[in-house]
Amino acid sequence: MKREHVKKLPKIELHCHLDGSIRPETLRKIAEPQGIVLPADDVQLKNLLVAPIDCQNLNQYLERFDLVLSCLQTETALKAAAFDIISQAAEENIRYIEVRFAPSLHTQKGLSLPKIVTAVLAGLTCGQEKFGVKSNALLCGMRHEEISDIEKIVHLAKEFQTAGIVGFDLAGNELDFPPYTFEETLGLVNQLNMPLTLHAGECGCGKNVADAIHLGAKRIGHGIAVKDTPEYFSLLKDNNILIEMCPTSNFQTKTVTKLADYPFKTFLDAGIKVCINTDNRTVSNTSLTDEYMKLYEWYGITYADMEQFNHNAVNGAFISEKEKQLLHEYLTTNY
Ligand SMILES: [Zn+2]
Repeated sequence: MKREHVKKLPKIELHCHLDGSIRPETLRKIAEPQGIVLPADDVQLKNLLVAPIDCQNLNQYLERFDLVLSCLQTETALKAAAFDIISQAAEENIRYIEVRFAPSLHTQKGLSLPKIVTAVLAGLTCGQEKFGVKSNALLCGMRHEEISDIEKIVHLAKEFQTAGIVGFDLAGNELDFPPYTFEETLGLVNQLNMPLTLHAGECGCGKNVADAIHLGAKRIGHGIAVKDTPEYFSLLKDNNILIEMCPTSNFQTKTVTKLADYPFKTFLDAGIKVCINTDNRTVSNTSLTDEYMKLYEWYGITYADMEQFNHNAVNGAFISEKEKQLLHEYLTTNY
Protein backbone atom coordinates (compact mmCIF):
# COMPACT_ATOMS: atom_id res chain seq x y z
CA MET A 1 0.00 0.00 0.00
CA LYS A 2 1.16 3.54 -0.71
CA ARG A 3 0.83 6.14 2.04
CA GLU A 4 -0.58 8.84 -0.25
CA HIS A 5 -3.28 6.50 -1.50
CA VAL A 6 -4.10 5.20 1.97
CA LYS A 7 -4.48 8.80 3.10
CA LYS A 8 -6.90 9.57 0.26
CA LEU A 9 -9.09 6.49 0.57
CA PRO A 10 -12.29 6.96 2.59
CA LYS A 11 -12.07 5.80 6.18
CA ILE A 12 -14.23 5.41 9.27
CA GLU A 13 -12.97 5.88 12.82
CA LEU A 14 -14.83 4.80 15.94
CA HIS A 15 -12.26 5.17 18.74
CA CYS A 16 -10.79 8.65 19.08
CA HIS A 17 -10.50 10.62 22.31
CA LEU A 18 -11.09 14.36 22.19
CA ASP A 19 -8.55 15.32 24.84
CA GLY A 20 -5.79 13.11 23.40
CA SER A 21 -6.17 14.31 19.84
CA ILE A 22 -5.86 18.08 19.86
CA ARG A 23 -3.10 19.51 17.67
CA PRO A 24 -0.33 21.31 19.59
CA GLU A 25 -0.96 24.47 17.46
CA THR A 26 -4.62 24.43 18.40
CA LEU A 27 -3.74 23.90 22.05
CA ARG A 28 -1.61 27.04 21.92
CA LYS A 29 -4.51 29.03 20.49
CA ILE A 30 -6.79 27.74 23.22
CA ALA A 31 -4.33 28.24 26.08
CA GLU A 32 -3.29 31.81 25.32
CA PRO A 33 -6.57 33.66 26.00
CA GLN A 34 -6.92 31.65 29.21
CA GLY A 35 -3.51 32.86 30.42
CA ILE A 36 -2.13 29.31 30.47
CA VAL A 37 1.59 29.40 29.77
CA LEU A 38 2.89 26.66 27.47
CA PRO A 39 6.53 26.12 26.47
CA ALA A 40 7.38 28.54 23.65
CA ASP A 41 9.37 25.85 21.89
CA ASP A 42 7.24 23.55 19.70
CA VAL A 43 9.43 20.50 20.32
CA GLN A 44 9.22 21.03 24.06
CA LEU A 45 5.45 21.38 23.89
CA LYS A 46 5.13 18.23 21.82
CA ASN A 47 7.26 16.35 24.35
CA LEU A 48 4.78 17.30 27.03
CA LEU A 49 1.85 16.03 24.96
CA VAL A 50 3.15 12.84 23.37
CA ALA A 51 3.48 9.70 25.51
CA PRO A 52 7.17 8.83 26.02
CA ILE A 53 8.64 5.75 24.36
CA ASP A 54 9.59 4.39 27.77
CA CYS A 55 6.06 4.83 29.10
CA GLN A 56 5.62 1.99 31.61
CA ASN A 57 1.88 1.35 31.58
CA LEU A 58 -1.60 2.66 30.86
CA ASN A 59 -1.73 4.86 33.94
CA GLN A 60 1.52 6.59 32.99
CA TYR A 61 0.17 7.09 29.48
CA LEU A 62 -2.94 8.70 30.96
CA GLU A 63 -0.78 11.25 32.83
CA ARG A 64 -0.08 12.83 29.44
CA PHE A 65 -3.59 14.22 29.45
CA ASP A 66 -3.15 16.53 32.46
CA LEU A 67 -1.80 19.55 30.59
CA VAL A 68 -4.35 19.35 27.78
CA LEU A 69 -7.19 18.96 30.24
CA SER A 70 -6.13 22.09 32.10
CA CYS A 71 -6.74 23.97 28.83
CA LEU A 72 -10.08 22.29 28.03
CA GLN A 73 -12.19 23.93 30.71
CA THR A 74 -14.14 26.54 28.74
CA GLU A 75 -16.86 26.24 26.11
CA THR A 76 -14.68 28.03 23.54
CA ALA A 77 -11.81 25.63 24.16
CA LEU A 78 -13.99 22.53 23.92
CA LYS A 79 -15.61 23.73 20.73
CA ALA A 80 -12.20 24.48 19.20
CA ALA A 81 -10.85 21.06 20.22
CA ALA A 82 -13.80 19.25 18.63
CA PHE A 83 -13.51 21.32 15.46
CA ASP A 84 -9.77 20.58 15.36
CA ILE A 85 -10.37 16.81 15.36
CA ILE A 86 -12.78 17.09 12.44
CA SER A 87 -10.26 19.14 10.50
CA GLN A 88 -7.69 16.37 11.05
CA ALA A 89 -10.24 13.75 10.02
CA ALA A 90 -10.95 15.70 6.82
CA GLU A 91 -7.24 15.79 5.92
CA GLU A 92 -7.17 12.02 5.67
CA ASN A 93 -10.64 11.54 4.21
CA ILE A 94 -12.40 10.11 7.24
CA ARG A 95 -16.05 10.05 6.23
CA TYR A 96 -17.51 9.28 9.64
CA ILE A 97 -15.95 9.54 13.10
CA GLU A 98 -17.13 8.90 16.64
CA VAL A 99 -15.29 11.20 19.04
CA ARG A 100 -15.38 10.29 22.71
CA PHE A 101 -14.80 12.35 25.82
CA ALA A 102 -15.44 12.30 29.56
CA PRO A 103 -17.52 15.36 30.53
CA SER A 104 -16.47 15.08 34.18
CA LEU A 105 -12.88 15.99 33.22
CA HIS A 106 -13.96 19.42 31.98
CA THR A 107 -15.61 20.79 35.12
CA GLN A 108 -12.44 22.18 36.79
CA LYS A 109 -13.54 25.79 36.23
CA GLY A 110 -17.19 25.20 37.01
CA LEU A 111 -18.66 24.41 33.58
CA SER A 112 -21.89 22.44 33.88
CA LEU A 113 -22.10 18.98 32.30
CA PRO A 114 -24.76 19.98 29.71
CA LYS A 115 -22.68 23.02 28.69
CA ILE A 116 -19.64 20.81 28.16
CA VAL A 117 -21.57 18.42 25.92
CA THR A 118 -23.21 21.27 24.02
CA ALA A 119 -19.84 22.91 23.35
CA VAL A 120 -18.26 19.72 22.00
CA LEU A 121 -21.28 18.98 19.79
CA ALA A 122 -21.17 22.56 18.48
CA GLY A 123 -17.52 22.09 17.51
CA LEU A 124 -18.31 18.83 15.73
CA THR A 125 -21.20 20.45 13.87
CA CYS A 126 -19.02 23.37 12.75
CA GLY A 127 -16.48 20.83 11.53
CA GLN A 128 -19.13 19.00 9.59
CA GLU A 129 -20.34 22.23 8.00
CA LYS A 130 -16.84 23.27 7.01
CA PHE A 131 -15.34 19.92 5.98
CA GLY A 132 -18.31 17.65 5.30
CA VAL A 133 -17.13 15.02 7.79
CA LYS A 134 -20.07 13.40 9.56
CA SER A 135 -19.51 12.76 13.26
CA ASN A 136 -21.17 11.79 16.50
CA ALA A 137 -19.87 11.67 20.05
CA LEU A 138 -19.71 9.09 22.82
CA LEU A 139 -19.65 10.02 26.50
CA CYS A 140 -17.15 8.29 28.77
CA GLY A 141 -17.53 7.64 32.47
CA MET A 142 -14.17 7.60 34.25
CA ARG A 143 -13.70 4.35 36.10
CA HIS A 144 -12.08 5.84 39.20
CA GLU A 145 -14.98 8.19 39.86
CA GLU A 146 -17.91 7.64 42.22
CA ILE A 147 -20.59 5.38 40.78
CA SER A 148 -23.20 8.10 41.37
CA ASP A 149 -21.12 10.54 39.29
CA ILE A 150 -20.71 8.00 36.49
CA GLU A 151 -24.47 7.45 36.47
CA LYS A 152 -24.93 11.19 35.99
CA ILE A 153 -22.95 10.82 32.76
CA VAL A 154 -25.20 7.95 31.67
CA HIS A 155 -28.27 10.16 32.13
CA LEU A 156 -26.45 13.02 30.40
CA ALA A 157 -25.81 10.77 27.40
CA LYS A 158 -29.50 9.89 27.28
CA GLU A 159 -30.48 13.55 27.51
CA PHE A 160 -28.36 14.32 24.44
CA GLN A 161 -29.12 11.14 22.52
CA THR A 162 -31.05 12.93 19.80
CA ALA A 163 -28.48 15.75 19.65
CA GLY A 164 -25.40 13.71 18.67
CA ILE A 165 -24.42 11.58 21.66
CA VAL A 166 -24.76 8.08 20.31
CA GLY A 167 -23.21 5.88 22.97
CA PHE A 168 -21.57 5.35 26.32
CA ASP A 169 -18.12 4.06 27.32
CA LEU A 170 -16.02 3.56 30.44
CA ALA A 171 -12.44 4.81 30.21
CA GLY A 172 -9.45 5.11 32.53
CA ASN A 173 -7.97 2.75 35.07
CA GLU A 174 -9.12 -0.72 34.00
CA LEU A 175 -6.75 -2.58 36.31
CA ASP A 176 -8.31 -1.37 39.56
CA PHE A 177 -11.86 -1.02 38.22
CA PRO A 178 -12.79 -4.05 36.09
CA PRO A 179 -16.17 -4.29 34.29
CA TYR A 180 -18.21 -5.93 37.06
CA THR A 181 -17.51 -2.94 39.35
CA PHE A 182 -20.09 -1.22 37.16
CA GLU A 183 -22.72 -3.92 36.85
CA GLU A 184 -25.58 -1.66 38.00
CA THR A 185 -24.39 1.37 36.06
CA LEU A 186 -24.15 -0.63 32.85
CA GLY A 187 -27.54 -2.14 33.60
CA LEU A 188 -28.85 1.42 33.58
CA VAL A 189 -27.14 2.09 30.22
CA ASN A 190 -28.86 -0.94 28.73
CA GLN A 191 -32.18 -0.07 30.29
CA LEU A 192 -31.97 3.40 28.70
CA ASN A 193 -31.17 1.81 25.32
CA MET A 194 -27.87 3.64 25.08
CA PRO A 195 -25.42 1.77 22.80
CA LEU A 196 -22.39 0.60 24.78
CA THR A 197 -18.73 0.24 23.89
CA LEU A 198 -16.24 -0.49 26.65
CA HIS A 199 -12.50 -0.17 27.06
CA ALA A 200 -11.61 -3.72 28.08
CA GLY A 201 -8.54 -5.93 27.80
CA GLU A 202 -6.34 -2.87 27.35
CA CYS A 203 -4.66 -3.87 30.55
CA GLY A 204 -5.99 -6.52 32.90
CA CYS A 205 -7.17 -9.88 31.70
CA GLY A 206 -9.14 -11.46 28.87
CA LYS A 207 -12.00 -12.11 31.26
CA ASN A 208 -12.61 -8.35 31.36
CA VAL A 209 -13.50 -8.55 27.67
CA ALA A 210 -15.92 -11.42 28.25
CA ASP A 211 -17.41 -9.58 31.24
CA ALA A 212 -17.83 -6.40 29.18
CA ILE A 213 -19.81 -8.39 26.60
CA HIS A 214 -21.96 -10.01 29.30
CA LEU A 215 -22.66 -6.52 30.62
CA GLY A 216 -23.96 -5.38 27.24
CA ALA A 217 -20.99 -3.98 25.29
CA LYS A 218 -21.48 -4.19 21.51
CA ARG A 219 -17.95 -3.04 20.82
CA ILE A 220 -14.71 -3.44 22.77
CA GLY A 221 -12.03 -0.76 22.93
CA HIS A 222 -8.65 -2.49 22.44
CA GLY A 223 -9.60 -5.99 23.63
CA ILE A 224 -5.97 -7.09 23.38
CA ALA A 225 -5.85 -9.25 26.52
CA VAL A 226 -8.49 -11.61 25.18
CA LYS A 227 -5.74 -13.09 23.00
CA ASP A 228 -4.65 -15.16 26.02
CA THR A 229 -8.13 -16.56 26.61
CA PRO A 230 -9.18 -18.14 23.28
CA GLU A 231 -12.10 -19.78 25.08
CA TYR A 232 -13.84 -16.40 24.73
CA PHE A 233 -13.33 -16.06 20.96
CA SER A 234 -16.66 -17.73 20.21
CA LEU A 235 -18.38 -15.28 22.59
CA LEU A 236 -17.01 -12.40 20.50
CA LYS A 237 -18.04 -14.06 17.24
CA ASP A 238 -21.47 -15.23 18.33
CA ASN A 239 -22.36 -11.77 19.59
CA ASN A 240 -20.91 -10.06 16.51
CA ILE A 241 -18.66 -7.93 18.71
CA LEU A 242 -16.38 -5.43 17.01
CA ILE A 243 -12.91 -4.86 18.46
CA GLU A 244 -11.71 -1.28 18.09
CA MET A 245 -7.98 -1.85 17.66
CA CYS A 246 -5.52 1.00 18.27
CA PRO A 247 -2.09 -0.41 17.36
CA THR A 248 0.24 2.47 18.26
CA SER A 249 -1.47 3.12 21.58
CA ASN A 250 -1.34 -0.57 22.53
CA PHE A 251 2.45 -0.58 22.30
CA GLN A 252 2.79 2.72 24.16
CA THR A 253 0.69 1.53 27.09
CA LYS A 254 2.70 -1.72 27.14
CA THR A 255 -0.44 -3.74 26.54
CA VAL A 256 1.99 -5.63 24.34
CA THR A 257 5.75 -5.18 24.13
CA LYS A 258 6.64 -7.07 20.97
CA LEU A 259 5.02 -7.50 17.60
CA ALA A 260 4.84 -11.29 17.97
CA ASP A 261 2.43 -10.73 20.87
CA TYR A 262 0.12 -8.35 19.01
CA PRO A 263 -3.08 -10.32 18.31
CA PHE A 264 -4.11 -8.68 15.03
CA LYS A 265 -3.65 -11.87 12.99
CA THR A 266 -4.97 -14.02 15.83
CA PHE A 267 -8.22 -12.09 15.81
CA LEU A 268 -8.54 -12.19 12.02
CA ASP A 269 -7.78 -15.90 11.86
CA ALA A 270 -10.37 -16.53 14.57
CA GLY A 271 -12.98 -14.66 12.51
CA ILE A 272 -13.29 -11.85 15.07
CA LYS A 273 -14.30 -8.50 13.57
CA VAL A 274 -11.87 -5.63 14.02
CA CYS A 275 -11.67 -1.99 12.97
CA ILE A 276 -8.65 0.32 13.09
CA ASN A 277 -8.38 3.51 15.14
CA THR A 278 -5.95 6.12 16.45
CA ASP A 279 -7.11 6.24 20.10
CA ASN A 280 -5.26 9.54 20.65
CA ARG A 281 -3.83 11.37 17.67
CA THR A 282 -1.57 13.65 19.69
CA VAL A 283 -0.69 11.57 22.74
CA SER A 284 0.06 8.61 20.44
CA ASN A 285 1.58 10.88 17.78
CA THR A 286 -0.38 9.17 15.01
CA SER A 287 -3.09 9.43 12.37
CA LEU A 288 -5.43 6.82 10.94
CA THR A 289 -3.21 6.73 7.84
CA ASP A 290 -0.22 5.95 10.09
CA GLU A 291 -2.12 3.13 11.75
CA TYR A 292 -2.97 1.50 8.41
CA MET A 293 0.60 1.95 7.19
CA LYS A 294 1.88 0.22 10.33
CA LEU A 295 -0.41 -2.73 9.67
CA TYR A 296 0.85 -2.81 6.11
CA GLU A 297 4.48 -2.82 7.28
CA TRP A 298 3.87 -5.39 10.00
CA TYR A 299 1.47 -7.74 8.26
CA GLY A 300 1.33 -6.74 4.60
CA ILE A 301 -2.37 -5.89 4.69
CA THR A 302 -3.93 -4.99 1.33
CA TYR A 303 -6.39 -2.34 0.16
CA ALA A 304 -9.05 -5.05 0.21
CA ASP A 305 -8.28 -5.72 3.90
CA MET A 306 -8.41 -2.01 4.60
CA GLU A 307 -11.77 -1.75 2.89
CA GLN A 308 -13.06 -4.65 4.99
CA PHE A 309 -11.94 -3.01 8.26
CA ASN A 310 -13.83 0.11 7.26
CA HIS A 311 -16.96 -1.87 6.41
CA ASN A 312 -16.59 -3.52 9.83
CA ALA A 313 -16.43 -0.06 11.41
CA VAL A 314 -19.60 0.97 9.57
CA ASN A 315 -21.39 -2.15 10.80
CA GLY A 316 -20.36 -1.37 14.38
CA ALA A 317 -21.03 2.37 14.22
CA PHE A 318 -23.78 3.72 16.45
CA ILE A 319 -25.82 5.13 13.54
CA SER A 320 -29.00 4.20 11.70
CA GLU A 321 -29.21 1.40 9.12
CA LYS A 322 -29.85 4.00 6.44
CA GLU A 323 -26.65 5.88 7.31
CA LYS A 324 -24.72 2.61 7.36
CA GLN A 325 -25.99 1.69 3.93
CA LEU A 326 -24.83 5.02 2.49
CA LEU A 327 -21.35 4.62 4.02
CA HIS A 328 -21.06 1.03 2.77
CA GLU A 329 -21.97 2.18 -0.72
CA TYR A 330 -19.47 5.02 -0.54
CA LEU A 331 -16.68 2.67 0.53
CA THR A 332 -17.52 0.11 -2.13
CA THR A 333 -17.52 2.75 -4.86
CA ASN A 334 -14.23 4.33 -3.78
CA TYR A 335 -12.04 1.27 -3.10
ZN1 LIG B 1 -9.29 4.69 24.29
